[in-house]
Amino acid sequence: TEDLFKKVIAHAKEYGFIFPSSEIYDGLSAVYDYGQNGVELKKNIREYWWKAMVQMNENIVGIDAAIFMHPTTWKASGHVDAFNDPLIDNKDSKKRYRADVLVEDYVAKLDDKIEKEIAKAQKRFGEAFDREQFVSTNPKVLEYKQRGEEILHRLGKSLENEDLADVKALIEELEIADPETGSRNWTDVKQFNLMFGTKIGASADATMDLYLRPETAQGIFVNFLNVQKSGRMKIPFGIAQTGKAFRNEIVARQFIFRMREFEQMEMQFFIKPGTQQQWYEYWKETRLKWHLSLGMGEENYRYHPHEKLAHYADAACDIEFRFPFGFKELEGIHSRTNFDLGNHEKYSGKKMQYFDPEDNQSFTPYVLETSIGLDRMFLAVLSNSLQEETLEGGDTRTVLRLPFVLAPTKVAVLPLLKKDGLPEVAEQIVNELKYDFNVAYDEKDAVGRRYRRQDAVGTPFCVTVDHQTLEDNTVTLRHRDTMEQVRIAIPELRAAIAKEVDM
Ligand code: ATP
Repeated sequence: TEDLFKKVIAHAKEYGFIFPSSEIYDGLSAVYDYGQNGVELKKNIREYWWKAMVQMNENIVGIDAAIFMHPTTWKASGHVDAFNDPLIDNKDSKKRYRADVLVEDYVAKLDDKIEKEIAKAQKRFGEAFDREQFVSTNPKVLEYKQRGEEILHRLGKSLENEDLADVKALIEELEIADPETGSRNWTDVKQFNLMFGTKIGASADATMDLYLRPETAQGIFVNFLNVQKSGRMKIPFGIAQTGKAFRNEIVARQFIFRMREFEQMEMQFFIKPGTQQQWYEYWKETRLKWHLSLGMGEENYRYHPHEKLAHYADAACDIEFRFPFGFKELEGIHSRTNFDLGNHEKYSGKKMQYFDPEDNQSFTPYVLETSIGLDRMFLAVLSNSLQEETLEGGDTRTVLRLPFVLAPTKVAVLPLLKKDGLPEVAEQIVNELKYDFNVAYDEKDAVGRRYRRQDAVGTPFCVTVDHQTLEDNTVTLRHRDTMEQVRIAIPELRAAIAKEVDM
């Protein structure tokens, strides 16, 4: 699995998905750029989310708030005082880590061991293997699971009580070493604020200290009344937003899993106090269904209820995904109570209340939040899709089995030869299809190599123009996953492709 992860990173670079930021200057740690294919995949994920959350829900609308916000926002939100992460330095290597992440990585390794046991048993029992039964009865699996749960529980409790000495003790007891050097010589655990500070204004006396937003949520809360009034929204209703967030993360490993500049897709659902349990369950299920709709394997997702609740939450869980380095948080579902609106009311002096015409009374709405990292979702999709296949006859091919709706390019048009008028027909097809899809044109090298190039970037279909095309106006349509080819009339192409790739 470590190997797979390395391959994903190399593939992302080689095929124009992700490049290290400012690479000619040796990069900037935990900051990345999206390339020509990456930007399309990322945009498609964002649109797939937006469609499910905003377009399909009459009572959810979107906004796009600024990254800069009035500094008091971050006092009200608790980020100035509470947005701290436990930091530990290694005395020998002088490297810094987030103590909680070190412990979570340790638990992820236990998960890995569980998966190995499962794989072994699966081999042994073949068809008759019952995963659920095995997981709930195998003593080794149960031991690893219990151990992981105990460790996370203890970590949660110590963080909740701000018992940083115990976090350090836990790292020592588990004999966790510096992942890069293997040294176990740690300093004490300290608190560290992850927000990036900056200044607004040019003249020295008129400057104001600002933060780059560490989450998009607060842009929604401060606009709650603007949207509610101008849109005449009735509770329950939601506001959705996608956009950049910034955190000065201490650990900068794991590629785009944990970045310093990243993008979130968040939705805040405003509800009547007392209904939060019901809406919590609703959004938990709805969001998991969204993930499953992409067809990336039910067994790759699980819920992880939070042991440690953030300062704003009364219930919270993560949807975890099986990344190449183990199950890790992909999305959070948080019942945030009236913490945010209540605090903004306190700090701004403006009423943040909703008047309910049915009950004839006003209240501060409760909030249910779904929050997913776009880049993390990108990594989930990319690592799940990358496969190396051995074909009949012993050849191998690298294929990116992206869900079709997310693929950067939907169809590539390839003239079999660079002569006899075939390129001209191919260009014509490109010109017809490009209004509906991202289309690629490729005439270089043998057609087999061109197919492989499209496989490697996940293009669902290839259209090949050959001599028969000149006679009967048909082309071959090749399917990425099965590699099967069918002959199809050119006027039927658009509908045949749309049927498979449209959201
Ligand atoms: P973690 O525990 O991994 O730091 P978190 O619990 O602090 O994450 P939230 O504040 O709940 O994360 O943010 C919501 C989502 O934003 C996460 O589920 C994750 O997908 C994404 N996210 C958070 N921090 C980062 C980051 N540094 N880089 C990329 N995505 C991130």
